[in-house]
Formats: sequence, structure tokens, C-alpha cells
Amino acid sequence: MSDFERNLRLDRRQFLQLLGAAALARKARAAAGPRVVIAGAGIIGASIAFHLAKAGASVTVIDRVGPATHASRGSFAWINATWSKQPRSYHQLNQAGVQRWKSLQSLLNLPVRWGGSLEGNAGPSLEAELVRRVAEQQDWGERTRFVESIELSKLEPGVDFSGLRQVVFSENDGATDPVAATHAFLNAAVALGARVEHPCELTGVKLAARRLTGVQTSRGDIPADRLVLATGAAADAGKRFADWDVPLRDAPGATAVTTPMPRLVQRVLWMPGVHVHQRDDGRIVLGEEAGPPQGEAHALRLQAHPNDFPAREIALEHAERMRAAAQRYMPGFTRAEFESARICWRPLPLDGYPVLGASPARPDVYLAIMHSGVTLAPVVGELVAQEIVNGQPADSLADFRPDRKFGELGS
Ligand SMILES: Cc1cc2nc3c(=O)[nH]c(=O)nc-3n(C[C@H](O)[C@H](O)[C@H](O)COP(=O)(O)OP(=O)(O)OC[C@H]3O[C@@H](n4cnc5c(N)ncnc54)[C@H](O)[C@@H]3O)c2cc1C
Repeated sequence: MSDFERNLRLDRRQFLQLLGAAALARKARAAAGPRVVIAGAGIIGASIAFHLAKAGASVTVIDRVGPATHASRGSFAWINATWSKQPRSYHQLNQAGVQRWKSLQSLLNLPVRWGGSLEGNAGPSLEAELVRRVAEQQDWGERTRFVESIELSKLEPGVDFSGLRQVVFSENDGATDPVAATHAFLNAAVALGARVEHPCELTGVKLAARRLTGVQTSRGDIPADRLVLATGAAADAGKRFADWDVPLRDAPGATAVTTPMPRLVQRVLWMPGVHVHQRDDGRIVLGEEAGPPQGEAHALRLQAHPNDFPAREIALEHAERMRAAAQRYMPGFTRAEFESARICWRPLPLDGYPVLGASPARPDVYLAIMHSGVTLAPVVGELVAQEIVNGQPADSLADFRPDRKFGELGS
């Protein structure tokens, strides 16, 4: 029995619902379910595993470290489809992501706090653009609008919005605990028959006449009809296993999480310089926009792509800088104990958009590399499973195929 099977925490209703899905999955598998190995147990691999197992595939998830140990551990985890998600095809994919979080939340016990987000703008240069974008959002079906001070003081009594020229309220948004959510998807996949192995590194692919027959791993070979690369910011994975280079940007980011605190903030705050939300359990999550002051020592350290700060004192320095920035908007946030502060690398394709689809060079190897992966995980899982099991290309992924021309960062 794996760790996941031991740790399954589903209530009776969820269990019965999954049992029904498992029966369907077994039936489908008996017919012709493919054997799929998913490399990467972040939130993307976990959601794909759940949806594939539900659709009748025989699923093995492997991770060279463990579930939610990279971007999905340090993510700010705002679930949104706000004005900056452009163009419309990308916006629609994010909108579908938000919707799927809502529809899967109770089935999988996903820890999401809804209530919307408040985005502040302090500078004049964005003002006209925001007016246009908010009108566009309304045309696109988003519950988005500007809010003024009287309503703001009701929405967020403890927050000081003075000095901001505009505040945009996007009512559909929420935020999650990305580690707990990753485990919830994996638990549900295991309940449907998936296997999860870690530490287990993908080291090679086995091919016969260009078709995949299996994968090589640090724990031995696994027979497989399809391989999904949900390997996040691992820059060489596309080239090594899909024979297809996915150009990625170096995009580090830092987040910090406090111990549980009395409620200071209700919604996601996306303020100039700092981002904040407070989970239902009281933990405050902070993210920063600019990162640390640039210097030679930092630049040298970043070259090694660290997945942790070099020492706890340095982690706390970063966390304290974010808290001080947040205090500008949350005067009551005078002190905090930090449970964690992390540096993480965003899986950010060069143009900013997801890479989703079979490798043009190896059709049995499917690439699933993206930013905004927390927002997108549930819908991406569903669409990838549909493409792999039914062989039906999803129209909504047409703009995000691996063989597109990668321009500059789009959003
Ligand atoms: C600071 C920060 C803030 C963010 N904020 C948001 C936000 O507010 N909203 C949002 O939607 N998104 C946000 N994101 C983006 C989001 O977190 C990511 O898009 C998402 O977590 C990606 O998940 P993933 O599963 O693809 O990658 P990861 O979580 O990085 O998982 C990839 C996994 O692949 C494994 N792996 C790699 N190579 C191999 C191999 N050869 N064999 C086996 N396993 C392998 C790794 O060990 C890792 O566990 C943020 C990201 C960061 C870093």
C-alpha cells in the first residue's frame, strides 16, 4: 500500500462518488484504456492523473523528489481570470479553470477560499488601459468592476486603500493551498487505481518504430503507451524525453506563509509591490512582485536555480520584507511568525502561454508545461485526459500547441 493509499481522507459521500467513477474507469480500462506514465507530481501532473484515471487510463505518476515539491509548493496560488490574462483564448482557458475549481471543490475536498480579488493601481500610466480592460472583462462575462472607498471599507475593513488611483474587484476569484490541493488530486487518482512513485526520476524513453513502449526510471523500466511531461521548470525535459525543445524563461519568485493568525484580510489583495491572501485556517500568504534588491551575490546564487533559500535567516529576511510591504496596506499586520518562506521557479514558456499537446517529434509524449498552473490545473487535467483517452483534439488548446512560434512574453 502506498503513502497515498494510507493517507486517503475522503468523506463517505466523496468516497461513494469516486467509487462510481472507479467502476466506470474499470469498465473503460477493460475496453482499451492506455497505460500512461506522468512525470511530475506537481498540481498539473496530479490533476492530469485524476482525470486520466477517471477516464479509464491505467496511470502511474512518478516524481524525482515528491508531490508538490517545486512550483506547486511555493505558488501564491491565486485562482483567477483577470484582465491581464490576454488574449481571449487564454482568458477563456483561465475562466474554465476557475469554473472547474468550483465544480470539483466539494467532490475532492479542495481547500479554496472564494470571495474575489482586489487589484490596486497606484500609477497614472495604467489608468486608461484599466478602464478599457474592465469593460472588456464585463463583455467577456467576468464579474469585474471598479470599487470606490465606501464599498472597499465594507469589503475589507482592515485594509488601507488610500493613495491608490483605482481598485478592480474580480468577484469570481479565489485562492487555494496548492500543496493540499495537489495531494487531494493525487488521493482521488489513487482511489481510482493510479499508482504514485517517488523519489523516482524519469531518465529515458523506450521506443520501437517511433512508438513509445515504456519509460526508464531511477527505479527501473515501466511499460507505457503514453508519457506526459508535467515536469514544470525542468528546462531540459522537453529535449531529453520528447525530442522537442520548450523554450522557457528564468522566472524565480518568492512567497512566505505565516502561522495561523486572527483574520486580517478577506480576499486576495494584489497591491503594487506585494500580494496577500489569508487562508480559511488563518495562515497569511505573501508574494512579492519585484523580488529582492539586485546585487552580484543574488545573481550568482540564482544561477544555480536553488529550490530553497540558503539559510533560514535569509528566508526570514525575505519574509519580513514582504510583511513590511504588506503593512503599508494592512496596518494591523505589525508582526508575524513565519512557517515558511520559499524561492520557486515558475514553469514559464518564453511567450508566457501554456505548452499543451503531443510532441511533434514523438507523438506518444505529451507536453504539459505552464504558468498560472494553479488556476489552470483542473481544466488542463480534463482536456489532456480527453485528448489522450479519446484522441479528440480540444479546440480550446489550439493556441497552445508545442509547435507554435514562440514570440516574446505575451502576458
Ligand atoms: C512564486 C510563484 C507564484 C505563483 N503564483 C501563481 C498564482 O498566483 N496563480 C497561478 O495560477 N499560478 C501561479 N504560479 C504558477 C504555478 O504555481 C505553476 O504554474 C504550477 O505550480 C506548475 O505546476 P506543475 O505541476 O507544472 O510544476 P511543479 O509543481 O514544478 O512540478 C513539476 C514536478 O516535476 C518533477 N520532475 C521534473 N523533472 C522530472 C523527472 N525527470 N522525473 C521525475 N519528475 C520530475 C519535479 O520534481 C516537480 O515535482 C506561481 C508560481 C510561482 C513560482
